[in-house]
Amino acid sequence: MDLDILQAFQREITCAICLHYLIDPVTIGCGHSFCRPCLSLSWEGAPNPAHCSECREPSWQRKFKTNIVLKNLVSVARKASLWQFLSSEEQMCGTHKEKKMFCEVDRSLLCSLCCNSQEHGAHRHCPIEGAAADQRAKLEKQMRSLWDKIQENQRNLREEQIMINHWMEYVLLVRKMTRTNYAELHPVLYKEEEQHLEELERESWNILQQLKRTVAQINQKRKQLKEMHEELMGMCHKPDEELLQDLGALLMRNEYVQLHMPRPVRPELSIRAITGLMDRYSRYRGECQPAV
Ligand SMILES: [Zn+2]
Ligand SMILES: [Zn+2]
Ligand SMILES: [Zn+2]
Ligand SMILES: [Zn+2]
Repeated sequence: MDLDILQAFQREITCAICLHYLIDPVTIGCGHSFCRPCLSLSWEGAPNPAHCSECREPSWQRKFKTNIVLKNLVSVARKASLWQFLSSEEQMCGTHKEKKMFCEVDRSLLCSLCCNSQEHGAHRHCPIEGAAADQRAKLEKQMRSLWDKIQENQRNLREEQIMINHWMEYVLLVRKMTRTNYAELHPVLYKEEEQHLEELERESWNILQQLKRTVAQINQKRKQLKEMHEELMGMCHKPDEELLQDLGALLMRNEYVQLHMPRPVRPELSIRAITGLMDRYSRYRGECQPAV
């Protein structure tokens, strides 16, 4: 291909945000295309409408389908550079002058004859191109699920922060109601009232600490998930031959990071009986029943 045409083609399949070949490309309303993860990151937390980072056109739509045509064009370009890499002299197998298989056990590139050698005889091997496409699809799928986890974690963080803000107000209200009930029912029963309020104080303080611990855990998880997302993006940008050899351990770490997501606390105070309150309540109910 003419060099100018090749460069023009490469420009068309390059993301304007990360300046690499498009990953899981999506086309927004104005017609510009970006990697799905790049667009998600650049619009994260942005108010609606978000703006295209190329032409600044506003977009209310936030969910997009993968642009299959662009995705296929990127895959053609990747294949071309994989062929170029594999046909270079130093990549040839010294003995058999070719290299087109991938060893899933060693995560190495092999020639078809070396696959049957003693060292590799018992391993699973597959053609490099197919292996690269499979691994890339797996990587993109994991990036999507990781992004969903990042969003879920963020929602939990917001909920928990709101909960902390409301918790002390709620406890004050319960305290006030308890005092009112005692004042009406037992103006002289100080001991039970003091005990009741002390327990309330202790319990609500413990719950507040638990809420704060959970916020810290969610923040920690947010950091881990974001770092993992960045690593996966970095891996996506690698050429096929490197991706094949480096991906295994990263995918395992990604699965591990997504385990044990901190759950938000749904706090509740224990119910403490106030002597005589239930009797009074039933009497009140009785008085309010309509006469039949
Ligand atoms: Zn990008
Ligand atoms: Zn645009
Ligand atoms: Zn060989
Ligand atoms: Zn092998």
